[in-house]
Amino acid sequence: MKVFESLRATNHEQILFCHDRETNLRAIIALHDTSLGLAMGATRLFPYNSEEDALRDVLRLSRGMTYKAACANIPVGGAKAVIIANPEEKTDALLKSYGRFVESLNGRFVTGQDVNLSPEDVRTINKETNYVVGIKELGGGATLATAIGVVLAIKAAADFRWQRKNLDGLKIAVQGIGNVGKNLCKILYANGVKLFVSDLIRDKAEEIADLYEATIVEHQHIHSLDVDVFSPCALGGILNSSSILQIRASIIAGAANNQLENEELHSQLIKSRKILYCPDYVINAGGLINVYNEMIGNDDEKALSHVRKIYDTVLEIFDKAEREEITTYTASKLLAEERIKKQKQQKIQQQLLIA
Ligand code: NAD
Repeated sequence: MKVFESLRATNHEQILFCHDRETNLRAIIALHDTSLGLAMGATRLFPYNSEEDALRDVLRLSRGMTYKAACANIPVGGAKAVIIANPEEKTDALLKSYGRFVESLNGRFVTGQDVNLSPEDVRTINKETNYVVGIKELGGGATLATAIGVVLAIKAAADFRWQRKNLDGLKIAVQGIGNVGKNLCKILYANGVKLFVSDLIRDKAEEIADLYEATIVEHQHIHSLDVDVFSPCALGGILNSSSILQIRASIIAGAANNQLENEELHSQLIKSRKILYCPDYVINAGGLINVYNEMIGNDDEKALSHVRKIYDTVLEIFDKAEREEITTYTASKLLAEERIKKQKQQKIQQQLLIA
């Protein structure tokens, strides 16, 4: 991969490659946009097949964070970090070594927990740097907030598509029963939803089947079930030229980042199949909103009411897409760009007032 070409193509500011021989740390921190002062983005630990895969992932995820923050009306830029490792290789020494690299950025980058990291791991990183969030686990924590945001988006989509004000009796297929998927199933079940679930780890699916009367589905088939909503909550790239043609749900709304393998091509394909797609970075912003509110010292109630705004943002995107005959993905990008422009203008005005 040509690094500078990738930076230019995605309009990134900086990449930090972190290596520590003693702990065998290999991490990449990507800062997409710090023009508002600081950039936020969680850290993912994953056994990437290659360094190129890791770089590609961190670049896509960090750019998505800029859009995510903008759509959530959070005045920060986007960033992301990946640690290339197996979950079994995760040690306190490795996490602390990573924390020292975060500290070296002096607050331009603030991070938290993503795939394969726990709040406990964030507390370990915190021993070396204060530039972490998600320690207080406001209102039940970031993963619960993420799940709440996804449920709100499903409600907005059901309202937009079927003029339904509740989810009672809907069939929803959830792919991936991890930290977010588990919380999502709990809330959906309480809303009267009939659940279908899959996870690569069978025990996780069985736990949800026992708790919430869910039907377990083989992971190769979960996306093609005859259900109302498909909710991808595992990893990215699930919406591609082959899977989209098999989807029978009317709505796609899940927590996973980077669900579209190719954003332009596959959002068009979804639109042509008359499936209503809820853009991932808009609806999974609950976690970011939660930790941002922790960072600025807000309480549980303020954080939750900020998360609730996801419902209106999703409806605004659907309306814009319908009016302008564009995909919901393009509508969300345009909305993000408008909000970024506004936030930057506000920052300039504030600076002028101080001067
Ligand atoms: P997690 O690692 O706890 O859970 C992911 C689950 O998906 C695991 O149980 C894994 O076994 C399963 N899985 C992986 N591939 C699968 C497949 N092909 N089929 C079925 N199951 C599969 O992660 P998480 O924290 O629950 O996050 C899930 C997704 O949501 C990720 O893409 C993450 O980036 C995104 N996200 C998470 C948060 C958050 O607050 N944790 C916030 C925003 C976005």
